[in-house]
Amino acid sequence: MPPKAKKSKVKRTTKDRRPKRKPCSFCIEKAVDVSYRDVNRLRKYVSERGKIVPRRISGTCAKHQRMVTTAVKRARIIAFLPYTSE
Ligand SMILES: [Zn+2]
Repeated sequence: MPPKAKKSKVKRTTKDRRPKRKPCSFCIEKAVDVSYRDVNRLRKYVSERGKIVPRRISGTCAKHQRMVTTAVKRARIIAFLPYTSE
């Protein structure tokens, strides 16, 4: 055995992980676009500290995540959403 051999980690089985992705909430309601004026909606996709929640956590699909990102950035410019929280 080579000296630098890594300790064998316990292999994660598929049981540990969530098998199914959370469906994108925008796709469910067949949203064509995400409005920057919809602040209450966008607030769900912004963390406590004002960061945009990543797709792997929010479950948003790639297409809608892109829209959320632009919408949040627009909303920030007109001060609907914070850049950071103090
Ligand atoms: Zn979607």
